[in-house]
Amino acid sequence: MESLYLISFGEIALKGENRPFFERILMQRIKQALRPYDENMRLQKTHGRIYCFTKASREEVLNSLEKVFGIVYISPAISCENHMDQIKQTALEVMKSQNYAGKTFKVETRRPNKSFPLKSPEVSREAGAHLLRNLEGLKVDVHKPEIQLDIEIREKTFIYCEKVPGPGGLPLGCNGKAMLLLSGGIDSPVAAYMLMKRGVEIEPIYFHSFPFTSDRAKEKVIDLCRVLVEYSGHMRLHVVNFTEALKELGEKTPDDFLTIMMRRMMVRIAQKTAESVGAKALVTGESLGQVASQTLEALVATNEVATMPIFRPLIGFDKIEIMDLAKKIGTYDISIEPYADCCTVFVPEHPKARPNISGVHEAERGLKVEKLTELGLKDIEIIDVKP
Ligand code: ATP
Ligand code: MG
Repeated sequence: MESLYLISFGEIALKGENRPFFERILMQRIKQALRPYDENMRLQKTHGRIYCFTKASREEVLNSLEKVFGIVYISPAISCENHMDQIKQTALEVMKSQNYAGKTFKVETRRPNKSFPLKSPEVSREAGAHLLRNLEGLKVDVHKPEIQLDIEIREKTFIYCEKVPGPGGLPLGCNGKAMLLLSGGIDSPVAAYMLMKRGVEIEPIYFHSFPFTSDRAKEKVIDLCRVLVEYSGHMRLHVVNFTEALKELGEKTPDDFLTIMMRRMMVRIAQKTAESVGAKALVTGESLGQVASQTLEALVATNEVATMPIFRPLIGFDKIEIMDLAKKIGTYDISIEPYADCCTVFVPEHPKARPNISGVHEAERGLKVEKLTELGLKDIEIIDVKP
C-alpha cells in the first residue's frame, strides 16, 4: 500500500528567487535516495512542503531521507478530504497509531487553504474534543504536550504526529563542487560532511604512497567514501601515486620541514586536479593547533601555494567534537582502523611547528616543484564509488 510522507525543508524556503532552483535539486535528491526501494514513488510540491507517495517501507523511507541534505523533518502522514467529519476520523486514526495512553496532547491546525469554512482554532478544538471522546487516558496540555497532532488544510488535509529530523542544510549540488583532501583519518571525512551539508558536491583526492603505506590504507579510504556516498549518491575518488614525489621530498628537504613540504605538494597536485574536474575550492580536515602541521604558521605556509580557496570547516573544533560528529555520520569506526597513511609514516622527529615563510622557501629550494607536480598528476587512478 502507498504511504504518504510530508517533507519539510526550512532554510531553502527562504531563498527568494532561487527557491525553484533549490527545490528542484532537493526533489532530485529525494528521488535518488528512494528509487532503489520504489521506482514509482511520486513527489508533489506545494508551498514549503514536499509530499512523497511511496510503497517503500517506513524504515526504508526514514533511513534514506535522514541522509538527504535540505530536509528539516519528515512526517509520516495520512490525508483526507477537506471535511470536518473526515478530519476528525483521520485525526483519530493517526492518534491511534501512537502510543498515546496516559499521555498529554494538543492539536495544532494550519489552514493555508482559506476556503475551508472553519478557522484553525475551531478545527483544533473540534478534533481535540473528538479524540478525548473516543480515546481513554488522553489529556490535553496546550503548553508542553507529549504528543502534538498537526492538521494542515491545503488542497487536501494532512494529519501527522511525528517529526523525524532530517540532516538540515542545503540540497547537495546547489553550491557547486569542491575537492577534498581525504586521508584515512578521523577529520577529513567529517570535513566532507560539513561541506556537503552546505550543498557542495565533493570529489575526494587521496595521496597514496605504496609501499610506505599499505594497500589496505587505500581500501580504508575507499571504505570511507562508501559511507560518504550514502549522503551523495556517488563520488569519484582520485588516488594519486605519491611515492616518487614523497621519496624526493624525503631526500631533498630538511627533515623538520617534511610535513609542510608534503602538504604543499599535495595542495599543488590537488589544485590542478580540481581545476580539471571543475571543482572551485579545496577542503581539508585541518583544525587549528591540533598537531605541529596545523599551527597558524603552518597553515599559512600551506596556503601560500594555493590560488583557490582552501576550506577548513573543522578549524575551530576540538578533537572530541570532531570524533562525536564522525560517530554520528558513521565514519569513525573505519577511521580508527590502524592502517597508517603517509603523514603518519613520515612524521619527522621534530617537526617545524612554526615555520616562517622564508625558511619554507629555503627548504624548498632544492626541489623541482613543477616536475614533482607533473609526476603526481601523471599517475592518478579514478575510482567510481557507489553505495
Ligand atoms: P585526518 O584525520 O583527516 O587524517 P589528521 O588529524 O590526521 O587529519 P593530518 O594527517 O595532519 O591530520 O592531515 C591534515 C589534513 O591533510 C587532512 O585532514 C587531509 O585533509 C589532508 N591529508 C593528510 N594526508 C593526506 C593524504 N594522504 N591524502 C589526502 N589528504 C591528506
Ligand atoms: Mg591524517
